[in-house]
Amino acid sequence: PQTQPLLALQNLYVNYGAVSALRGVSLHLHAGEVVALLGANGAGKSTTLRAISNLIKVASGQILLDGSPLTGLSPTEVVARGVAHCPEGRRVFGGMSVLENLRLGASVRSDSEGIKSDTERMLSLFPILAERRSQAAGTLSGGEQQMLALARALMARPRLLLLDEPSLGVAPLIIKEIFKILRELRETGVTILLVEQNARAALGLADRAYVLRTGSVALSGSAAELSQSEEVAQAYLGGG
Ligand code: ATP
Repeated sequence: PQTQPLLALQNLYVNYGAVSALRGVSLHLHAGEVVALLGANGAGKSTTLRAISNLIKVASGQILLDGSPLTGLSPTEVVARGVAHCPEGRRVFGGMSVLENLRLGASVRSDSEGIKSDTERMLSLFPILAERRSQAAGTLSGGEQQMLALARALMARPRLLLLDEPSLGVAPLIIKEIFKILRELRETGVTILLVEQNARAALGLADRAYVLRTGSVALSGSAAELSQSEEVAQAYLGGG
């Protein structure tokens, strides 16, 4: 018997004005799973994450966390329910230091001892951030900012991490490092919904994946199955 999923999207529709971005997306994640959301530019991947975080309005359909709807909650309340969003384009606060950015990630928490020990945990998970802890985030390289954005999201102690394109504009060596850290995070039981253009890296990490095409789920299955799929190979694995 299947347990209740941690997150379930049921027949979700989202519009931007006259543009229909999501057309009936249904997907689910069980606690502890890493699930990849693949698809071409504009397929609706980022929109799906924004809808879960309540950053945009859903036209119809349901988003259930532990079986109860997130409808009507503010984005901050969604974070407080255990869902952290690491947005595309690493929106760190450039004028603030690395440590200040990490502290902001914990703003929904009030356990100061826990925040302190999690800050230390982030600095050991991301040694480069420890080196640069007092530096303004805007002076970090693209890859370092991506790591900071990830560490900041983790400071909320999320049960569910929504991760949008961690490899975008990041050097290959740093992509490797980020995925190594994601692998370590998986061991700690964090559930991850991972949006990626880099399908090979994503399928290497994920348990399962969904492929979006123009706002709908076109394919879904285990990461192993989808890696073998002719269609996925041609569209997203560079023909390999
Ligand atoms: P990308 O990787 O390029 O971000 P994506 O799969 O994440 O692609 P979305 O960003 O979710 O796709 O976009 C889905 C659709 O919604 C696209 O047609 C896009 O042009 C449109 N869209 C996204 N954001 C907006 C917006 N703020 N206003 C109007 N249309 C938008």
